[in-house]
Amino acid sequence: MTALLEFDRLNVTFKGERTVYAINDLSLKLEQGEMLVLLGESGSGKSVTLKTLLRLLPPARTQISGGIKVNGTDIMTLSGRSLQDYRGGDVSMVFQEPALALDPVYRIGDQISEAVRRKKRVSREEARNVALDMLRRVRIPSPERRMMNFPHELSGGMRQRVMIALALACRPRLLLADEPTTALDATVQIQILLLLRELQKEFGMGVIFVTHDIGVAVEISDRIAVMYAGQIIEEGSTHEVINDAHHPYTRGLLAANLHDVERGERLEAIPGVPPSLEEKPKACSFAPRCPNAMPECRDKLPPVIEIGARRRVACFLAQQAVAAE
Ligand code: SF4
Ligand code: MG
Repeated sequence: MTALLEFDRLNVTFKGERTVYAINDLSLKLEQGEMLVLLGESGSGKSVTLKTLLRLLPPARTQISGGIKVNGTDIMTLSGRSLQDYRGGDVSMVFQEPALALDPVYRIGDQISEAVRRKKRVSREEARNVALDMLRRVRIPSPERRMMNFPHELSGGMRQRVMIALALACRPRLLLADEPTTALDATVQIQILLLLRELQKEFGMGVIFVTHDIGVAVEISDRIAVMYAGQIIEEGSTHEVINDAHHPYTRGLLAANLHDVERGERLEAIPGVPPSLEEKPKACSFAPRCPNAMPECRDKLPPVIEIGARRRVACFLAQQAVAAE
């Protein structure tokens, strides 16, 4: 079966006053109906990965190599009409900030209806019914009345629900979510996460959900890919990664999470800072912070070791462990 999404050795480099190697040799597969969390600190390349996937990066300043296929189609070849059909059709996005998706001067019912009419040949009446149905599905109370509201008339949590309704109205096969609940308080956050999970299962969508919060990752995902310095350093099922982490960075994240570290600061609990990315990694990017670092870690790129089915780790320790088996 064709994977829903496949990155094949993706590299993304920004060229400007400085050069930034934002994504380095990223390979990843997402099957239909899977929910994968990209987990990492800010600057680790999570959002860049999503933007690359939506073809949102400025071509003049961005060098991209490697393959990205969605349903078997190389999305880097899309242009004009086919690119428009792809965005908001097969693939859709929920942002952290609803203002990026919702227009302040249009009623929310009109915004969802219009989005549907841009993608599907349906009457105004049918589009309106889709919008109403979506508002019901995301559990907006009194949806008929809410259709008439402007975004600023809704609470943060309600706006986030509307944004989900908007993103799902055209039934994308792939949904991208960039920290969509980070700005919300804890109770609302969990409601939105549960809603997303429910809709994902109901619609059979594949989802890539970006977060820096392990608690969120555990709550919502089937699989986790941990990112560090523009690379995936560990990947596996959520259960495997959480219960049997192999990479010292993932272990550090989990240990930090167990301490009573304040919310939102968890990932900073590992001493040291991530590298600047102004050079292409030639050794293990985590070596300066790694409690297990060995001389070779500073000389060579660690190999990506398959330690199980769809389970891999980029670390010399994993290589040694496999060799010793
Ligand atoms: Fe640590 Fe070496 Fe593994 Fe990098 S490759 S995470 S420095 S043990
Ligand atoms: Mg980000």
